[in-house]
Amino acid sequence: MHRKQTIEINIWGVLMWGDNPIVIQSMTNTPTADIGATTKQIQELVKAGSELVRITVNDDAAAEAVPKIIKNLISLGISTPIVGDFHYNGHILLNKYPEMAESLAKYRINPGNVGKWEKRDDNFKSIIECAIKYQKPVRIGINGWSLDDDLLQMNMNENSKLQNPKSGKEVFVDSMVESALLSVEKAEQYGLPKNRMTISVKMSDIQDMVSSYKLLSSKTDIPLHLGLTEAGGSAKGITASSIALGLLLQEGIGDTIRVSLTPEPGAKRSLEVEVCKYILQTMGIRSFQPLITSCPGCGRTSSDKFQILSKQITDEIDKNYSTWKDKYTNFTTTNIAVMGCIVNGPGEAKNADIGIFLPWSGENPKIPVYVKGEIHKTLDGDDIFEQFMEILIGYFEGEDNK
Ligand code: SF4
Repeated sequence: MHRKQTIEINIWGVLMWGDNPIVIQSMTNTPTADIGATTKQIQELVKAGSELVRITVNDDAAAEAVPKIIKNLISLGISTPIVGDFHYNGHILLNKYPEMAESLAKYRINPGNVGKWEKRDDNFKSIIECAIKYQKPVRIGINGWSLDDDLLQMNMNENSKLQNPKSGKEVFVDSMVESALLSVEKAEQYGLPKNRMTISVKMSDIQDMVSSYKLLSSKTDIPLHLGLTEAGGSAKGITASSIALGLLLQEGIGDTIRVSLTPEPGAKRSLEVEVCKYILQTMGIRSFQPLITSCPGCGRTSSDKFQILSKQITDEIDKNYSTWKDKYTNFTTTNIAVMGCIVNGPGEAKNADIGIFLPWSGENPKIPVYVKGEIHKTLDGDDIFEQFMEILIGYFEGEDNK
């Protein structure tokens, strides 16, 4: 897969550009002023694999909390860059709270809501001046529903005068990209170098989002932050985000990704990080943990044993993730197959690094385990999970690699 070569940007040691790994990021949903809850959620997101975490800085209390949160994280041994998300009053808060401005690793600005009319440029300039003063990178983060109204209206009016006007959607996409590039141009004029900027053009419609990023990528070599905003929750949100990000990543576009999921009430925020990891790993871009290939099961499946086995293996890997990823060299790259019967079972089991398929009713109840395409052992008895885990850990350790 060819990656578009972008300018190098360094955010507290996290390198974001053409040849470096695509960076996973996430955002907290706790009130930033709640120092304990925000610190705890950042810890959860980092533990799940977030390499950059964004927090909202929306008022005085949040601005005062930021340096304390970062101190807490440092005392916990967490050095993950923390990005401040600013809307409407970023110019005020960044100037009023220098300790906050200094402690953040990066600022995110939405040029569509830094102010109206003549104040817009002054406020934007004020934020850029803070970024220069404290040597911080900035994300120019355009959002579809807070796109600069004046620019969109002007472009719509100009378009309507054309002999062959573009569709409203095309003008919208053009305006998203134009707004981003105009903001980059202004930031450069105010003195912020290009190697301290990233850009995003997020929206909730997949086709418009993909068109906007493709157009933007053709016009700039600044690193791009990909995201489908307001993606929704659970299956819909995961599906929509995966398609949107996958289409762009496949074309080599994108240096950092975020999946914006509406969490189920009480659910962990870190699901958005898990989805980012799965997007990158299932596309063959990065490896984070063993991937399990398993079949959906069908009328041939005589019991739910293979489903239970697949879940037990997944749970065991999740439980031991933080220890095993550092302990075992093969851990992040192992492909495991857990299949329901003989129809596709042997094929998938042989194709995986380590694979197992369960017999259906009437078959020999012995269960073959394949390692690198060859039968390694035949399992029998009531402790199939324990026996399989012993072989799997041996593989992680490198004992059974052929
Ligand atoms: S492998 Fe067997 S149990 Fe699984 S879906 Fe295919 S036919 Fe059904």
